[in-house]
Amino acid sequence: MYIFDSVKREKVKFEPIFKENVSIYVCGPTVYDNAHLGHAKSALSFDLLYRTLKELGYSVTLCRNFTDIDDKIINKLNESDRTLKELTDYYIDRYLEDMRALNVIDATIQPKATESLDAIESFILKLLEKNVAYRVENGDIYFDTSKDVKYGNISKRVVDEDRTQSRIEINSLKRNSKDFVLWKNCQGEDDICFDSRLNSGRPGWHIECSAMVEKYFIGDDNYIIDIHGGGADLIFPHHENEASQTRCATGKEIAKYWMHNGFVQIDGEKMSKSLGNSFFVKDALSVYDGEVLRYYLISVHYRNDFNFNEEDLIASKKRLDKLYRLKKRVLNVTSSNPNIDFKNRLIEAMSDDLNVSVALSIIDEMINLANEKLDKNSKDKNLKKEILANIELINRVFGIGEREPLNYFQIGIDYKRENNRRLIGKKGAKRPRGEEKPIFPGR
Ligand SMILES: [Zn+2]
Repeated sequence: MYIFDSVKREKVKFEPIFKENVSIYVCGPTVYDNAHLGHAKSALSFDLLYRTLKELGYSVTLCRNFTDIDDKIINKLNESDRTLKELTDYYIDRYLEDMRALNVIDATIQPKATESLDAIESFILKLLEKNVAYRVENGDIYFDTSKDVKYGNISKRVVDEDRTQSRIEINSLKRNSKDFVLWKNCQGEDDICFDSRLNSGRPGWHIECSAMVEKYFIGDDNYIIDIHGGGADLIFPHHENEASQTRCATGKEIAKYWMHNGFVQIDGEKMSKSLGNSFFVKDALSVYDGEVLRYYLISVHYRNDFNFNEEDLIASKKRLDKLYRLKKRVLNVTSSNPNIDFKNRLIEAMSDDLNVSVALSIIDEMINLANEKLDKNSKDKNLKKEILANIELINRVFGIGEREPLNYFQIGIDYKRENNRRLIGKKGAKRPRGEEKPIFPGR
């Protein structure tokens, strides 16, 4: 398996810390709203990685966290009469529901920040002990980035590119502009605080992932996990900060490899004018079949930016239709083994940093060839068994083709619905300058 390491910025051979067990940690959503297409793209990217590694024979542990305490969540709480747990559990359930509708396999471990407070506290105490964290006047605890000579190694940002992080915190008591908060002291009765060995307060965002990685994985002397993933927008400051904290607290690098997926954008004028509900997965699912949406979203390589438009989605549906039409022809048999040449080529394509466009064209080719063979030998049982096994292989790796064909063909895309136009926009429609708004995956 070869993957593109986004920190080394090159394609490298994947050699896990432990020969057969792969550990992956992906930064999950902050649960204060419904999942948008960026969340879906991130989940699908790592779902493909998970499935491919499984097919290669690895045992894979995938951890995806839920950030269930955060300023955005507290803001949302102030507008509602729900408790923190009611609100975040609600959005966690919605997230899982949406991802399952896209046939994303649940992560092996799905920890919540509020259930990992012990690990977070211990981690911060370790940083305080090592003198790489400090308390400021108001009781907040910060990480001292100047103590880590490797700070900047992940994002390759130079130290004076300060604006991103410091703008919001101009009045803070930080020592260095890139320092970030590990623990926020309780701000009074209205604040949401947790009792802890530090003081009553709540964790910052970056610390939670470092603490959870250490809580669930051990690694070797150099690395804790094999692959750390997330949306490309997380590289700085989130992943830089995670890596630095872990390096300082444990003496190890948090991950051996880093993988980041691209942004999702909606192509079309109409869409960009109405930034709002239409970005949500649940809205897309109210118009399109989950499997069609899945096929479409995975059909673009995970590192590329994804431009959502209806024409491409329809083209994806047509390709999926072909798979199901083939499946319909081989229903009356039990599967044998997939065609060796087909399997090798498919796995080879996916082992090349998940080269999905090559893989999907190999599938198209297989479908055409299988249909030709069936036209000539419509009663060949062994042929049918092999074709069904090919489809089962496709299902395992890509998460498509699992349904009964009749069930699949009952769905349809209502192309003419006004709603569709509003949701998707037209292909190639030019977005007015200054209105470009990528949907950031991950958060
Ligand atoms: Zn994270």
